Amino acid sequence: MMRNDKRHMLDGASRTSTGGWLIATSDSTNMGKRLGLEGDHGTCPACKVGGPVYNDCDPRWTDMGKSVLVEGARVYCQCKEKPRVFASQYTMSSEVVSGNVKGAAAGADSKMPYTHNNLASRTTTPDAASLAAYEADPTMICPNMTNAEFYAAVMRVRDIAVAHMEARLMELARWSESDKDKVRIWFTNATPDIRKRLREGITRIRKISLSLTEKNFERFSEEAVRRVGCVPAAGKGDEPAWASVCKSDKTFAIFIGTTFCYLHEEKRNYQGIIENVSSMTTVFIHEVSHFPAAMDTVDRYSGIKAARLLAKLRNRFVIENADNIAAYVADVPNW
Ligand SMILES: [Zn+2]
Ligand SMILES: [Zn+2]
Repeated sequence: MMRNDKRHMLDGASRTSTGGWLIATSDSTNMGKRLGLEGDHGTCPACKVGGPVYNDCDPRWTDMGKSVLVEGARVYCQCKEKPRVFASQYTMSSEVVSGNVKGAAAGADSKMPYTHNNLASRTTTPDAASLAAYEADPTMICPNMTNAEFYAAVMRVRDIAVAHMEARLMELARWSESDKDKVRIWFTNATPDIRKRLREGITRIRKISLSLTEKNFERFSEEAVRRVGCVPAAGKGDEPAWASVCKSDKTFAIFIGTTFCYLHEEKRNYQGIIENVSSMTTVFIHEVSHFPAAMDTVDRYSGIKAARLLAKLRNRFVIENADNIAAYVADVPNW
C-alpha cells in the first residue's frame, strides 16, 4: 500500500527518546540549525555509544545525495529498543512515502535499520529487461539498481564503515579488557604492537574512506583494471565478482562486481546484531584496507569465518589479512 504524508524535518536541535542529540551535518539550515541527513550520528546516554540515524520512511527531500531525516527516525545504537528522534521545529516538513518497501519493513517493528535491509528488496534476480540493460550499457554498475541508487547505497555504506572505524579507534584509545578481547578475536593477541598497527592503520583507512566519492566506484572490467595499472589475469586474490582494487592505483578506484550488488549494506539479525557474514560494509573495508596508503593488506585467506578460525589457530598473518581487518572494523561479534 502506498501512502504519502508529510513529516517534520529533524535538525541539530532534535532530541531522542533516550535524551540524546542528533549531530546534524547538512550544509542546509533552517532557522540557523543544520538539517539532519541519513547516516548522521545520534548520541545516546542510555548505551553511551550512539549510532547512525535512519528514517523509517522514504522522504522526497534529499540533500548532498542523502535523504533528509524526518520525525520517526531511529538511532541505531547499542540499545535493544532503538531510540526515536523528535522534531524540534514545526515549520519545515518533507513529503514522505510510507508503506513502500522501506516503510513496510520498518512499519510494524522498527527494530531493524531498514536502510540496512532495503537491499533485501533488490536481492531478487533482476528482470530480463534490467539484465539486458546491464549487458548493453557498460556504464551501468549493478543490474539490480540504477547508478543513482548504487551511489546512494555505497555512500551510505561508506558512512556506516567510517562510523565503525571511529568506534574502533575510540576502543583502541580506551583499551579496556573488553576492547582487548575484541582485538584478540581477530588478531590472536592484544599486544602494544598490534594496538599501534590497528590505530595507525584504521586512521589511514578512515582518511581514505572519507576522501572517496561516487567517482571512485565503477563497474569491474579488465580494461578498467588495466587503466589504473594492474594486469587482471595475473592478479590473484580478490574475486572480481565481488569487488576489487589495484594496489598500485593512487586514485583509489574500487571495481564493483555483480555479487557486491546483491549483498546487504550491513547484515543484522532481528535484534539488530551484526551477522557473521560478508556485507557491502565488510567488503568496502576489505577493499580500502588493501591500498598501501591504508594497511597494505593481502588476501591470504578469505571469508569472515576463516578469519576468526585463523586467529584462533594463532596464524601469524592475521594482522595483514584483509578479512581480519574488515571483520574487526565492522564489529562482527564474538559468536
Ligand atoms: Zn542507545
Ligand atoms: Zn581483497
